[in-house]
Amino acid sequence: MEYTLVNKLEKEGDLSDSELKTLLETDEYDKALFESADRVRRARYGDAVYIRGLIEFTNYCKNNCYYCGIRRDNRCAERYRLTKEHILACCREGYALGFRTFVLQGGEDPYFTDERVCEIVSAIREAYPDCAITLSIGEKSKESYEKYFKAGANRYLLRHETANDAHYRTLHPAELSPEERKSCLYALKEIGYQVGSGFMVGSPGQTTENLIEDLRFLQKLSPDMIGIGPYITHAQTPFANEKSGTLEMTLRLVAVLRLMFPWALLPSTTALGTIHPEGRELGLKAGANVVMPNLSPSDVRALYTLYDNKIHSGAEAAQSVNDLRTRVQNAGYRVVVDAGHVKR
Ligand code: SAM
Repeated sequence: MEYTLVNKLEKEGDLSDSELKTLLETDEYDKALFESADRVRRARYGDAVYIRGLIEFTNYCKNNCYYCGIRRDNRCAERYRLTKEHILACCREGYALGFRTFVLQGGEDPYFTDERVCEIVSAIREAYPDCAITLSIGEKSKESYEKYFKAGANRYLLRHETANDAHYRTLHPAELSPEERKSCLYALKEIGYQVGSGFMVGSPGQTTENLIEDLRFLQKLSPDMIGIGPYITHAQTPFANEKSGTLEMTLRLVAVLRLMFPWALLPSTTALGTIHPEGRELGLKAGANVVMPNLSPSDVRALYTLYDNKIHSGAEAAQSVNDLRTRVQNAGYRVVVDAGHVKR
Protein backbone atom coordinates (compact mmCIF):
# COMPACT_ATOMS: atom_id res chain seq x y z
CA MET A 1 0.00 0.00 0.00
CA GLU A 2 2.70 2.40 1.12
CA TYR A 3 4.65 1.96 -2.09
CA THR A 4 1.66 2.02 -4.39
CA LEU A 5 0.84 5.69 -3.97
CA VAL A 6 4.44 6.85 -4.14
CA ASN A 7 5.16 4.54 -7.08
CA LYS A 8 2.19 5.92 -8.94
CA LEU A 9 3.39 9.48 -8.36
CA GLU A 10 6.90 8.55 -9.51
CA LYS A 11 5.63 6.79 -12.62
CA GLU A 12 2.86 9.15 -13.67
CA GLY A 13 4.08 12.43 -12.18
CA ASP A 14 0.62 13.10 -10.83
CA LEU A 15 -2.06 11.92 -8.40
CA SER A 16 -5.70 12.77 -7.84
CA ASP A 17 -6.54 15.46 -5.29
CA SER A 18 -7.70 12.88 -2.77
CA GLU A 19 -4.53 10.82 -3.22
CA LEU A 20 -2.41 13.94 -2.73
CA LYS A 21 -4.38 14.73 0.40
CA THR A 22 -3.67 11.27 1.78
CA LEU A 23 0.04 11.62 0.98
CA LEU A 24 0.34 15.07 2.52
CA GLU A 25 -1.55 14.41 5.73
CA THR A 26 0.54 11.57 7.13
CA ASP A 27 4.22 10.83 7.69
CA GLU A 28 3.58 7.21 6.71
CA TYR A 29 4.85 7.65 3.16
CA ASP A 30 7.76 9.97 3.90
CA LYS A 31 10.58 7.43 3.71
CA ALA A 32 9.36 6.00 0.40
CA LEU A 33 8.62 9.51 -0.86
CA PHE A 34 12.13 10.83 -0.16
CA GLU A 35 13.78 7.77 -1.71
CA SER A 36 11.65 8.11 -4.80
CA ALA A 37 12.34 11.86 -5.09
CA ASP A 38 16.07 11.24 -4.77
CA ARG A 39 15.92 8.60 -7.50
CA VAL A 40 14.09 10.94 -9.86
CA ARG A 41 16.43 13.83 -9.11
CA ARG A 42 19.52 11.66 -9.74
CA ALA A 43 18.09 10.36 -13.01
CA ARG A 44 17.68 13.94 -14.29
CA TYR A 45 20.42 15.93 -12.55
CA GLY A 46 22.80 13.31 -11.08
CA ASP A 47 24.33 14.44 -7.82
CA ALA A 48 24.81 18.06 -8.96
CA VAL A 49 23.87 20.85 -6.60
CA TYR A 50 23.76 24.29 -8.22
CA ILE A 51 24.73 27.28 -6.15
CA ARG A 52 23.25 30.75 -6.61
CA GLY A 53 24.81 33.82 -5.10
CA LEU A 54 22.03 35.72 -3.40
CA ILE A 55 22.45 39.48 -3.22
CA GLU A 56 19.77 41.06 -1.04
CA PHE A 57 20.30 44.59 -2.31
CA THR A 58 17.49 46.53 -0.60
CA ASN A 59 15.15 45.92 2.30
CA TYR A 60 12.98 48.96 1.59
CA CYS A 61 9.53 47.81 0.53
CA LYS A 62 6.38 49.64 -0.45
CA ASN A 63 4.25 46.57 0.23
CA ASN A 64 2.72 45.53 3.49
CA CYS A 65 2.41 41.73 3.33
CA TYR A 66 1.20 40.59 6.74
CA TYR A 67 3.81 37.85 7.10
CA CYS A 68 6.95 39.69 6.04
CA GLY A 69 9.52 41.31 8.32
CA ILE A 70 10.51 43.97 5.78
CA ARG A 71 6.92 45.13 5.23
CA ARG A 72 6.40 48.88 4.91
CA ASP A 73 4.84 49.33 8.34
CA ASN A 74 7.60 47.63 10.28
CA ARG A 75 9.11 50.77 11.80
CA CYS A 76 11.67 48.68 13.71
CA ALA A 77 13.35 47.45 10.53
CA GLU A 78 16.65 49.22 9.90
CA ARG A 79 16.59 49.94 6.17
CA TYR A 80 19.50 49.73 3.71
CA ARG A 81 20.23 49.84 0.00
CA LEU A 82 23.33 48.67 -1.84
CA THR A 83 24.86 50.85 -4.54
CA LYS A 84 25.62 49.56 -8.02
CA GLU A 85 29.32 49.44 -7.06
CA HIS A 86 28.52 47.40 -3.97
CA ILE A 87 26.45 44.96 -6.02
CA LEU A 88 29.22 44.60 -8.60
CA ALA A 89 31.73 43.98 -5.81
CA CYS A 90 29.46 41.17 -4.53
CA CYS A 91 29.40 39.64 -8.02
CA ARG A 92 33.19 39.90 -8.31
CA GLU A 93 33.64 38.11 -5.03
CA GLY A 94 30.99 35.55 -5.96
CA TYR A 95 32.54 34.80 -9.35
CA ALA A 96 35.91 34.12 -7.71
CA LEU A 97 34.19 31.77 -5.26
CA GLY A 98 32.66 29.76 -8.13
CA PHE A 99 29.19 31.29 -8.48
CA ARG A 100 27.80 31.46 -12.01
CA THR A 101 24.33 32.72 -11.12
CA PHE A 102 23.61 35.95 -9.31
CA VAL A 103 20.22 36.48 -7.75
CA LEU A 104 19.30 40.08 -7.05
CA GLN A 105 16.51 40.10 -4.52
CA GLY A 106 14.88 42.97 -2.73
CA GLY A 107 11.76 44.57 -1.41
CA GLU A 108 9.70 46.58 -3.88
CA ASP A 109 11.81 49.69 -3.51
CA PRO A 110 10.73 52.67 -5.66
CA TYR A 111 14.28 54.06 -5.48
CA PHE A 112 15.27 51.30 -7.89
CA THR A 113 13.56 52.69 -10.96
CA ASP A 114 13.62 50.68 -14.19
CA GLU A 115 16.53 52.82 -15.31
CA ARG A 116 18.56 51.97 -12.20
CA VAL A 117 17.69 48.28 -12.37
CA CYS A 118 18.69 48.15 -16.05
CA GLU A 119 21.93 49.95 -15.35
CA ILE A 120 22.85 47.38 -12.71
CA VAL A 121 21.76 44.41 -14.82
CA SER A 122 23.68 45.63 -17.92
CA ALA A 123 26.83 46.17 -15.89
CA ILE A 124 26.65 42.61 -14.51
CA ARG A 125 25.83 41.22 -17.94
CA GLU A 126 28.81 42.97 -19.51
CA ALA A 127 31.23 41.81 -16.81
CA TYR A 128 29.91 38.22 -16.60
CA PRO A 129 28.59 37.06 -19.97
CA ASP A 130 28.74 33.43 -18.85
CA CYS A 131 26.55 33.94 -15.79
CA ALA A 132 22.81 33.79 -15.29
CA ILE A 133 21.24 36.91 -13.82
CA THR A 134 18.13 36.32 -11.77
CA LEU A 135 15.89 39.10 -10.53
CA SER A 136 13.47 38.80 -7.64
CA ILE A 137 12.06 42.27 -7.14
CA GLY A 138 8.35 41.67 -7.12
CA GLU A 139 5.43 42.79 -9.24
CA LYS A 140 6.20 45.15 -12.14
CA SER A 141 4.54 46.00 -15.44
CA LYS A 142 5.22 43.80 -18.44
CA GLU A 143 7.09 46.73 -20.01
CA SER A 144 9.43 46.88 -17.03
CA TYR A 145 10.06 43.14 -17.15
CA GLU A 146 10.83 43.51 -20.87
CA LYS A 147 13.37 46.25 -20.17
CA TYR A 148 15.19 44.15 -17.56
CA PHE A 149 15.22 41.21 -19.98
CA LYS A 150 16.72 43.34 -22.75
CA ALA A 151 19.32 44.61 -20.28
CA GLY A 152 20.46 41.02 -19.75
CA ALA A 153 18.39 39.46 -16.96
CA ASN A 154 17.31 35.95 -17.91
CA ARG A 155 15.62 34.51 -14.83
CA TYR A 156 12.95 35.83 -12.47
CA LEU A 157 11.71 34.53 -9.14
CA LEU A 158 8.24 35.49 -8.03
CA ARG A 159 6.48 33.15 -5.67
CA HIS A 160 2.74 33.05 -6.15
CA GLU A 161 2.61 32.61 -2.31
CA THR A 162 -0.76 30.83 -2.39
CA ALA A 163 -2.91 29.89 -5.36
CA ASN A 164 -6.16 30.21 -3.43
CA ASP A 165 -7.64 33.68 -3.90
CA ALA A 166 -9.40 33.87 -0.53
CA HIS A 167 -6.27 32.66 1.27
CA TYR A 168 -4.16 35.17 -0.67
CA ARG A 169 -6.38 37.97 0.60
CA THR A 170 -5.89 36.89 4.21
CA LEU A 171 -2.10 37.13 3.78
CA HIS A 172 -2.01 40.47 1.95
CA PRO A 173 -3.63 43.89 2.19
CA ALA A 174 -6.34 44.78 -0.33
CA GLU A 175 -3.99 46.62 -2.70
CA LEU A 176 -2.28 43.34 -3.55
CA SER A 177 -4.27 40.88 -5.62
CA PRO A 178 -3.79 37.22 -6.51
CA GLU A 179 -4.82 37.97 -10.10
CA GLU A 180 -2.04 40.51 -10.51
CA ARG A 181 0.55 38.21 -8.95
CA LYS A 182 -0.39 35.40 -11.32
CA SER A 183 -0.56 37.64 -14.37
CA CYS A 184 2.99 38.84 -13.63
CA LEU A 185 4.14 35.22 -13.78
CA TYR A 186 2.52 34.63 -17.16
CA ALA A 187 3.98 37.91 -18.49
CA LEU A 188 7.47 36.84 -17.39
CA LYS A 189 7.06 33.53 -19.19
CA GLU A 190 5.85 35.20 -22.37
CA ILE A 191 8.88 37.46 -22.42
CA GLY A 192 11.18 34.45 -22.28
CA TYR A 193 12.47 34.47 -18.72
CA GLN A 194 13.19 31.20 -16.96
CA VAL A 195 10.58 31.63 -14.27
CA GLY A 196 10.51 30.54 -10.67
CA SER A 197 7.42 30.48 -8.53
CA GLY A 198 6.50 28.89 -5.23
CA PHE A 199 4.84 29.29 -1.87
CA MET A 200 5.33 29.29 1.87
CA VAL A 201 4.50 26.09 3.70
CA GLY A 202 2.39 26.49 6.82
CA SER A 203 1.43 30.11 6.26
CA PRO A 204 -1.41 31.20 8.56
CA GLY A 205 -4.74 29.68 7.55
CA GLN A 206 -3.25 27.32 4.94
CA THR A 207 -5.12 24.03 4.46
CA THR A 208 -4.12 20.83 2.66
CA GLU A 209 -6.63 21.81 -0.01
CA ASN A 210 -4.78 25.11 -0.49
CA LEU A 211 -1.51 23.22 -0.94
CA ILE A 212 -3.12 20.99 -3.56
CA GLU A 213 -4.31 24.15 -5.35
CA ASP A 214 -0.71 25.36 -5.26
CA LEU A 215 0.41 22.17 -6.97
CA ARG A 216 -2.34 22.48 -9.58
CA PHE A 217 -1.44 26.10 -10.27
CA LEU A 218 2.20 25.12 -10.73
CA GLN A 219 1.13 22.42 -13.19
CA LYS A 220 -0.59 25.10 -15.26
CA LEU A 221 2.29 27.57 -15.04
CA SER A 222 4.99 24.93 -15.55
CA PRO A 223 7.82 27.01 -14.07
CA ASP A 224 11.53 26.20 -14.37
CA MET A 225 12.23 26.84 -10.70
CA ILE A 226 10.01 26.21 -7.67
CA GLY A 227 10.98 27.76 -4.35
CA ILE A 228 9.22 26.67 -1.21
CA GLY A 229 10.13 27.13 2.42
CA PRO A 230 8.37 27.08 5.75
CA TYR A 231 6.54 30.23 6.77
CA ILE A 232 8.43 31.53 9.81
CA THR A 233 6.86 34.02 12.18
CA HIS A 234 8.34 37.50 12.52
CA ALA A 235 7.64 39.26 15.82
CA GLN A 236 7.05 42.68 14.25
CA THR A 237 4.28 41.69 11.87
CA PRO A 238 0.52 41.33 12.30
CA PHE A 239 1.13 37.56 12.33
CA ALA A 240 3.41 37.73 15.39
CA ASN A 241 1.29 35.20 17.27
CA GLU A 242 0.90 32.71 14.43
CA LYS A 243 2.69 29.37 14.35
CA SER A 244 5.53 28.72 11.90
CA GLY A 245 5.39 25.99 9.26
CA THR A 246 7.17 22.69 9.92
CA LEU A 247 10.27 20.97 8.61
CA GLU A 248 8.32 17.77 8.02
CA MET A 249 5.62 19.29 5.84
CA THR A 250 8.16 21.32 3.85
CA LEU A 251 10.31 18.24 3.12
CA ARG A 252 7.24 16.24 2.14
CA LEU A 253 6.28 18.95 -0.34
CA VAL A 254 9.81 19.24 -1.74
CA ALA A 255 9.65 15.52 -2.52
CA VAL A 256 6.18 15.77 -4.04
CA LEU A 257 7.37 18.68 -6.21
CA ARG A 258 10.37 16.68 -7.43
CA LEU A 259 8.06 13.86 -8.49
CA MET A 260 5.50 16.13 -10.15
CA PHE A 261 8.10 18.41 -11.77
CA PRO A 262 11.16 16.20 -12.43
CA TRP A 263 12.84 18.94 -14.48
CA ALA A 264 12.51 21.67 -11.89
CA LEU A 265 15.33 23.49 -10.17
CA LEU A 266 14.28 23.21 -6.53
CA PRO A 267 16.16 25.21 -3.93
CA SER A 268 16.72 23.94 -0.45
CA THR A 269 15.90 27.33 1.03
CA THR A 270 17.34 29.52 3.77
CA ALA A 271 14.03 29.22 5.64
CA LEU A 272 14.48 25.43 5.69
CA GLY A 273 18.02 25.93 7.05
CA THR A 274 16.62 28.30 9.66
CA ILE A 275 14.06 25.95 11.21
CA HIS A 276 16.51 23.06 11.49
CA PRO A 277 20.33 23.01 11.65
CA GLU A 278 20.43 20.39 8.90
CA GLY A 279 17.36 21.63 7.10
CA ARG A 280 19.19 22.34 3.87
CA GLU A 281 20.84 18.94 3.71
CA LEU A 282 17.51 17.29 4.44
CA GLY A 283 15.98 19.35 1.64
CA LEU A 284 18.60 18.04 -0.80
CA LYS A 285 17.87 14.47 0.30
CA ALA A 286 14.17 15.09 -0.32
CA GLY A 287 14.81 16.11 -3.94
CA ALA A 288 16.07 19.72 -3.92
CA ASN A 289 19.07 20.51 -6.15
CA VAL A 290 19.86 24.20 -5.59
CA VAL A 291 21.24 26.21 -2.67
CA MET A 292 21.41 29.97 -2.53
CA PRO A 293 24.04 31.19 -0.10
CA ASN A 294 24.17 34.85 0.77
CA LEU A 295 26.61 37.08 -1.13
CA SER A 296 25.40 40.35 0.39
CA PRO A 297 28.03 42.32 2.33
CA SER A 298 28.19 41.00 5.89
CA ASP A 299 27.27 44.34 7.49
CA VAL A 300 23.81 44.38 5.88
CA ARG A 301 23.08 40.66 5.90
CA ALA A 302 21.47 40.67 9.32
CA LEU A 303 19.12 43.46 8.23
CA TYR A 304 17.30 41.51 5.54
CA THR A 305 15.13 39.97 8.22
CA LEU A 306 12.10 38.45 6.55
CA TYR A 307 11.43 36.29 9.62
CA ASP A 308 12.87 35.73 13.10
CA ASN A 309 16.32 34.12 13.51
CA LYS A 310 17.02 34.07 9.74
CA ILE A 311 20.45 32.45 9.33
CA HIS A 312 23.14 34.50 7.64
CA SER A 313 26.50 33.08 8.65
CA GLY A 314 28.32 29.74 8.49
CA ALA A 315 27.48 27.70 5.40
CA GLU A 316 24.75 30.25 4.64
CA ALA A 317 27.40 32.83 3.77
CA ALA A 318 28.74 32.53 0.24
CA GLN A 319 32.19 33.23 1.64
CA SER A 320 32.00 29.87 3.43
CA VAL A 321 31.36 28.02 0.19
CA ASN A 322 33.98 25.42 1.09
CA ASP A 323 32.10 24.59 4.27
CA LEU A 324 28.96 24.33 2.15
CA ARG A 325 30.77 22.05 -0.31
CA THR A 326 31.70 19.71 2.53
CA ARG A 327 28.18 19.68 3.92
CA VAL A 328 26.70 18.97 0.50
CA GLN A 329 29.25 16.21 -0.05
CA ASN A 330 28.46 14.66 3.32
CA ALA A 331 24.80 14.63 2.31
CA GLY A 332 25.77 12.63 -0.81
CA TYR A 333 25.85 15.35 -3.49
CA ARG A 334 28.33 17.65 -5.22
CA VAL A 335 28.43 21.42 -5.64
CA VAL A 336 29.16 22.32 -9.27
CA VAL A 337 30.52 25.51 -10.85
CA ASP A 338 27.85 25.98 -13.47
CA ALA A 339 24.98 28.37 -14.19
CA GLY A 340 22.78 25.27 -13.84
CA HIS A 341 20.12 25.57 -16.53
CA VAL A 342 16.84 23.73 -16.34
CA LYS A 343 16.73 20.25 -17.91
CA ARG A 344 13.25 19.84 -19.35
N1 SAM B 1 9.71 41.56 -3.07
C1 SAM B 1 9.96 40.39 -3.81
C2 SAM B 1 8.72 39.54 -3.93
O1 SAM B 1 7.70 39.89 -3.38
O2 SAM B 1 8.77 38.52 -4.62
C3 SAM B 1 11.11 39.56 -3.28
C4 SAM B 1 11.38 39.64 -1.81
S1 SAM B 1 10.22 38.72 -0.79
C5 SAM B 1 10.76 39.21 0.80
C6 SAM B 1 10.83 37.06 -1.02
C7 SAM B 1 10.02 35.94 -0.40
O3 SAM B 1 10.20 35.92 0.99
C8 SAM B 1 8.53 36.00 -0.57
O4 SAM B 1 8.16 35.51 -1.82
C9 SAM B 1 8.01 35.16 0.61
O5 SAM B 1 7.57 33.89 0.19
C10 SAM B 1 9.23 35.04 1.52
N2 SAM B 1 8.89 35.44 2.90
C11 SAM B 1 8.51 36.64 3.32
N3 SAM B 1 8.20 36.61 4.64
C12 SAM B 1 8.41 35.34 5.05
C13 SAM B 1 8.25 34.66 6.29
N4 SAM B 1 7.80 35.29 7.36
N5 SAM B 1 8.55 33.35 6.33
C14 SAM B 1 9.00 32.71 5.24
N6 SAM B 1 9.16 33.28 4.05
C15 SAM B 1 8.86 34.59 3.94
